[in-house]
Amino acid sequence: MLAALAVVAAGGVARAYEWFATKETQRPERWFREALTVRVSTVAPAEVPWETMEALYEEALGSWLDLPGCRLPQVDVVGTVDAADVTLPKTVDDEPDNLVVFIEDGDTWLAHEGATNSMIALTFVVANSVTGEIIDADIAVNDAAFAFTTSDDATSGVDLLSTFTHELGHFFGLDHSADPSATMVYDYGSSPSRRLQARTLEDDDIDGVCALYEVPLPEPPPSASPGEGCGGCAGGGSGGLVFDALMTLCVIFACRRRARSV
Ligand SMILES: [Zn+2]
Repeated sequence: MLAALAVVAAGGVARAYEWFATKETQRPERWFREALTVRVSTVAPAEVPWETMEALYEEALGSWLDLPGCRLPQVDVVGTVDAADVTLPKTVDDEPDNLVVFIEDGDTWLAHEGATNSMIALTFVVANSVTGEIIDADIAVNDAAFAFTTSDDATSGVDLLSTFTHELGHFFGLDHSADPSATMVYDYGSSPSRRLQARTLEDDDIDGVCALYEVPLPEPPPSASPGEGCGGCAGGGSGGLVFDALMTLCVIFACRRRARSV
């Protein structure tokens, strides 16, 4: 009897995860490529030794890539970049140039649409607004407003591994989850245990990303209209620290034709 009840209860739980979706066509946004590269900026927080940075990012990446049976693209860290800000593609033909950068200058951080000093990081996901193919994703960490830590028992500072792990969920196409225990919840959390919990994935995160990459590659609808520029903000207001209450989500479509006509 207990077992039967448990099955019913499990079947009745609604999914909490969300995917990014194209505005016009409501298609899930995800990578179509099977192999991606990322470069990590050498302009890094002074409080985190640079020697540990790539290993820390690889650890966060491993949480997502090492999921059994999950068809995520391979992502390799291929080196470093001396960058103070994100770089976004201009057309759908641009090759991905995925970066992890630490923005040290407060004005540079706030110059990004919707960015505030209560946001720890932002992931700029650029996707084809018709097919949903992600063509570039840069993670920007707010090094202007926060100090970071990698310690298991830190009493101050933002946990950088939790930050990387959360932002990588956006990198792969996940939006914020409604599950308060998920790594993809937008709230960084006020308790030390909650903050460290975001270092690893929960069932909701795993279900969300694996299901996203099970979706067959969509064909572009014949009557789709082009999208315009960058935009599309989502997120809620919160008094506490947030990973990134707002996602800057850029969609690019029809730029190919415009670029060639110039
Ligand atoms: Zn987020």
